[in-house]
Amino acid sequence: MMITEQHTLNAEIELSGIGLHTGKFAKIILKPAPPNTGVKFIRVDLAEKPCIEALVTNVIDVEREVILGKNDVKIHTVEHLLATLSAFSIDNVIIEIDGPEVPILDGSAKLIVEAIKKVGVKNQYKPRKIFRIKEPMSITKDETLLILLPSAVPKITCTINFKHKILGAQHLTLPINQEVFVNELAAARTFGFEKEVEYLRSRGLIKGGSLENAIVIGEDKILNPEGLRYPDEFVRHKMLDLIGDFSLLGAQLCAHIIAIRSGHEANVSIVNKVLQLYKRTYSGMKSFLNINENDDMLDIRRIMEVLPHRYPMLLVDRIIGIEGERRIVGLKNVTINEDFFNGHWPGAPVMPGVLIIEALAQLSGVMLLRKSENLGKLPYFMGLDNVKWRYPVTPGDQLIMEVETLKIGTRRGSLKGCAYVEGKLVCEAEFKFSLIRD
Ligand SMILES: [Zn+2]
Repeated sequence: MMITEQHTLNAEIELSGIGLHTGKFAKIILKPAPPNTGVKFIRVDLAEKPCIEALVTNVIDVEREVILGKNDVKIHTVEHLLATLSAFSIDNVIIEIDGPEVPILDGSAKLIVEAIKKVGVKNQYKPRKIFRIKEPMSITKDETLLILLPSAVPKITCTINFKHKILGAQHLTLPINQEVFVNELAAARTFGFEKEVEYLRSRGLIKGGSLENAIVIGEDKILNPEGLRYPDEFVRHKMLDLIGDFSLLGAQLCAHIIAIRSGHEANVSIVNKVLQLYKRTYSGMKSFLNINENDDMLDIRRIMEVLPHRYPMLLVDRIIGIEGERRIVGLKNVTINEDFFNGHWPGAPVMPGVLIIEALAQLSGVMLLRKSENLGKLPYFMGLDNVKWRYPVTPGDQLIMEVETLKIGTRRGSLKGCAYVEGKLVCEAEFKFSLIRD
């Protein structure tokens, strides 16, 4: 079962310790935050108290750790903390930190889990941002393969394969939820190879690393005297890292993640791809545009007041958002009941491409007629450029249409429209209109 409502902490949590890479000491205080805040870091040790959102767009480095940053301000090694917040469905939290790196603690998420369990989480009864993968996507690079598949619940399959005497291949599949995270993944520690220590130190990394906060793999044995916490602790830690990296989407991802020899770099790059898709779906558009359900939504009745079109020629069901005179986003649910399916290839129903163009043009019309001096005018189609149809639109699809203004005057307007289904660009075109008084 997926958690569909937003959560925060019941009370503040404090944790402190040295950072794995910088070796610097820091204290973090996790504070409850209102709905739709997201996960935000604040560097309270700096004069301006800069805020860095835990989003993939703020990732500045992925060598061995995930570094978030903005204008020279950095926060190192965020992944284990973010993984834990994600596993507990904590969408909203302010993380005050008084140094450049999140404490590594014991190298795992165990102590963070214990601290969260002590205060508990609070349901905020607001819908979470959830993004379901509807079509497979993948990236490959060298020996890395990362695949996202549709799945009813979040799930990870992870394979590691080091060419090392005591750490070869490990493979594990788990559904991802709070219980699994706490019992199967949280205690798995970060790890490294003894032979790499010198090289990494020379690159300014793992200055705070020790047997207290990492598994160190020697030539033919594990150097930690206490041994391993799970026989396959390594693949489990990789899964913990994956959960942290994927939380940088800023929404709960519902997919089966298959990661073969993956690392932060590949994870972050596929999260970037997912983010582009997410922004172009209905739920993504809403959060991206920062729209309040009741504010900017033009329902079908109000669209009909603005547009001269009537059924069956009205091809916009709803306006999802408007950004001044710059951008407008609308949607059209394409059902088998559409009149045009009766006569347009009834055996293989496909929405006629020209009607997608017409739908985009109608949305453009709403944008043009919003300008007060254009009130009472009618937009006439004058030109169409750079039209491309990329994929067929079929019954059951939800068309998300985005129109951007290129130029609007009192007599002419030009706009660019794109239509998406499930984040995939299906059609694009540029429109020229002339505005004529009725
Ligand atoms: Zn890690």
